[in-house]
Amino acid sequence: MFIDDTIAAIATAPGEGGIGIIRLSGCDALDIAEKIFRPFYRESIRDYANRTLIYGNIVDGEDVIDEVLLAYMKGPHSYTAEDVVEINCHGGFISVKKILELTLKSGARMAEAGEFTKRAFLNGRIDLSQAEAVIDIINAKTDKSHEIAQEQLEGSLSKKIRGLRDKITEVLAQVEVAIDYPEEDIEFITYKELIEKTEYIKSEIVKMYKTADTGKILREGLKTAILGKPNVGKSSLMNSILGENRAIVTDIPGTTRDVIEEFVNIKGIPLKIVDTAGIRETDDIVEKIGVEKSIKHLKSSDLTLVVLDTSRELDNEDIEILQNIDREKAIVLLNKIDLEPKLDLEKVKEYVDEKNIINISALKSEGIDLIHDRIEEMVFSGEISNSGEVMITNSRHKDAIYKAMTSIEDSVRALSDHMSYDFIEVDLRDAWDALGQINGDTVNEDLLDTIFSNFCIGK
Ligand code: GDP
Repeated sequence: MFIDDTIAAIATAPGEGGIGIIRLSGCDALDIAEKIFRPFYRESIRDYANRTLIYGNIVDGEDVIDEVLLAYMKGPHSYTAEDVVEINCHGGFISVKKILELTLKSGARMAEAGEFTKRAFLNGRIDLSQAEAVIDIINAKTDKSHEIAQEQLEGSLSKKIRGLRDKITEVLAQVEVAIDYPEEDIEFITYKELIEKTEYIKSEIVKMYKTADTGKILREGLKTAILGKPNVGKSSLMNSILGENRAIVTDIPGTTRDVIEEFVNIKGIPLKIVDTAGIRETDDIVEKIGVEKSIKHLKSSDLTLVVLDTSRELDNEDIEILQNIDREKAIVLLNKIDLEPKLDLEKVKEYVDEKNIINISALKSEGIDLIHDRIEEMVFSGEISNSGEVMITNSRHKDAIYKAMTSIEDSVRALSDHMSYDFIEVDLRDAWDALGQINGDTVNEDLLDTIFSNFCIGK
């Protein structure tokens, strides 16, 4: 693909800050910069070494707009692999806006969301999974999700996918020889060897597929509902969980302002606690939310924390909640263990496994660590705990791997059933194509647009 225009955007977040950055990329980036920039100590940007910071003024004719530091990075050694200019000006709204307008007036075009990263991909500097890692780094909620995205940016996933595709190519080559020379009945291609190789590829793909659920949780957060009738201690629990672990609070765009997502970092797992505003605001609101509405939350959550008051007997409201929980994804917290116990534990055990019942005192912050441990165990249980596995964090990748898995399973079956090599070839090719969608070797323009539209402008 030939790109012949130059794009510009503000690369820093809007708002007041020390520095704002305007970024230009494309074949005219340097010419545009020369038109609007006067270095203090030499004639032109061309008189300075590549990739150094140059001190000077941004000017509009005779008017000085701002005093800046400008960096020129000649392609292909730049973010987009094109000529890139970055202008570090004063922060706030006005400087960046004026300088951006000036670049547009001087021949640049306003960049679309993600277009810098898209160019890095189209110019072959990074593959698609690495481009997607960029957005994951920007959106990371905890150190762990950041770490996974960083590894993906460095190419861990790309390498894994390339390796698997190479292996499929090897098998395909053997299958194609068999198709082309059927009469030879070539000895070295034994069915056994082909099956072994294909089985191996299948097991690797299945392993990757299994990491997808954990990966998604680390990326997007574990949607968590805290349930319990009024006064059992939900707000107190929230406060002790949030205490040291509050990560990020976001308003969800397009919803009423009181729907707030709190991200809590539990051992690297972002817990997205939904509708805490309602729980925390006042007791009145808790009354209003009521059990019925809480149960609705429960249905859409990945994890439910049910709070019971051990100092009171179980009542119908408690039981109604317990009857509605999903055993696999609920932890029951027996709160107020500092008080005289009245609750019938045996009755609770009818609704939930013992390992998912934890004694706590929200007031005294006792037992909170046990909640953390149990959540960690639930997320990393079984095979997905093997560290060192390349994690699939993205649902698009998960879909592609699922397709590859289905096709490779078909080819294993076709091989075992001694079906015609032509069928086996088709299945192997499908698997090869599906994996190629992850690093972008086999994607179409529409998909690219969808992916990059999730980025912010300036990235
Ligand atoms: P919510 O209505 O479920 O949010 O409950 P709150 O968190 O507002 O707590 C209700 C009452 O129980 C408050 O007076 C809390 O101080 C008290 N409480 C909460 N947790 C504990 C606990 O672990 N022990 C004791 N003794 N009291 C608690």
